[in-house]
Amino acid sequence: MKVATNKIKDIVKLYHTELKEVYTPGEIDAILNAAFNHYLGYNRIDLDLRGEENLNQSDLLKLYKCCEALKTGKPVQYILNEAWFYNLKFYVNEHVLIPRPETEELVEMIIKDLRNPAPSPLGRAGGEVALLDIGTGSGCIAVSIKENIRGCTVSACDISKDALFVAKKNAEDKKLRVNFFEADVLSSEAFLKKAEDKFDVIVSNPPYIKRSEKNSLNKNVTDHEPHLALFVGEEDEIIFYKKIIDLCKELLKPQGLLYFELNPLTANDVKNYALKSNLFSSAELIKDMSGNVRFLRAIKYPPL
Ligand code: GLN
Repeated sequence: MKVATNKIKDIVKLYHTELKEVYTPGEIDAILNAAFNHYLGYNRIDLDLRGEENLNQSDLLKLYKCCEALKTGKPVQYILNEAWFYNLKFYVNEHVLIPRPETEELVEMIIKDLRNPAPSPLGRAGGEVALLDIGTGSGCIAVSIKENIRGCTVSACDISKDALFVAKKNAEDKKLRVNFFEADVLSSEAFLKKAEDKFDVIVSNPPYIKRSEKNSLNKNVTDHEPHLALFVGEEDEIIFYKKIIDLCKELLKPQGLLYFELNPLTANDVKNYALKSNLFSSAELIKDMSGNVRFLRAIKYPPL
C-alpha cells in the first residue's frame, strides 16, 4: 500500500485501488466522505474541489491507517467510532449494532404518529408520553425520539452493560435525559420489576436473524458486529417478539402503541402472535423503502 504524494486526490485514488475487492466504487466514495469529514471536517464538495491540496503528515497517516483497517473488512463506523442516524451523530463501538436505515424509517414513523394528535397517545396523555425502547443497543431509537419529541419521557434497556454504556454516552453527549436500565427481556418477572412504570409506547428492534441465515449476510457484518444483537437461536426465532408482546399485557397502557422492526421472513408469525394475544385492537404490517415487510404497529385495546 503506497500513496503517490500527499495530495488529496492521491489518497482518494489509494482508497479506490486498495478497497476495490471489499467495496463498490459508490461505497468507497461514501467511506471517503465519512473519513474526510471525521478527520478533517470536510464536506462532500471539499473533497471534490480540493484534490490538488496537500495533506499534512499527521492527517495523511490517519487516513492511511483508516484505509488499512478498512481492508480487513472492519466497517468504517467502528473505525471512526461514529455513525449517522436520523441526522444525529452517534458514538458506536463493536458492542453495539451499527444503526440501519430501516431503523430510521421506524423512528420516522413513530415521530409522525406521536406528532399527530388524533390517534396518538400524545393527545390522550396531555402531551406526556412515556416510551420504552427494548434492546436499545447504541440508543439510536430512544435518543433520536427524545431529541425530536422533548415532551416524551423516554426509557431504554438492554441486556448488555457494554451497550448501555454506549447508549448513555449518546444521550449525555446530546444532553438528553433518557432513563436507562439493564434487563433481560426473556426473564419476564425480573424485567417487570425493573421497568416499574407503564408505557404509552413500546418499541423494539430485537435480534431477528437466524444463525442459519448467517451465510447470506455480508462478512463485514458477521465478522464485526455483535452476535448478541444480530442473532436469535434456532428453536424459536421470534422469541423476543413473543416475550415483548406478552409483556405488553402489564407494561403497555390501554390504547398504547407497540412498534417492532421485523425480519420479513417471520413478520407474519409475529403479527399472528400479536393478534392471538387478544391484547390489541389492531396489528398491521408495514413495508420499508425496499418493499420488504419490515415493521409492525399494534394498538392496544381501550380499557374495559
Ligand atoms: N435498537 C438498536 C438499533 O436499532 C439495537 C438493535 C439490536 O441490537 N438488535 O440499532
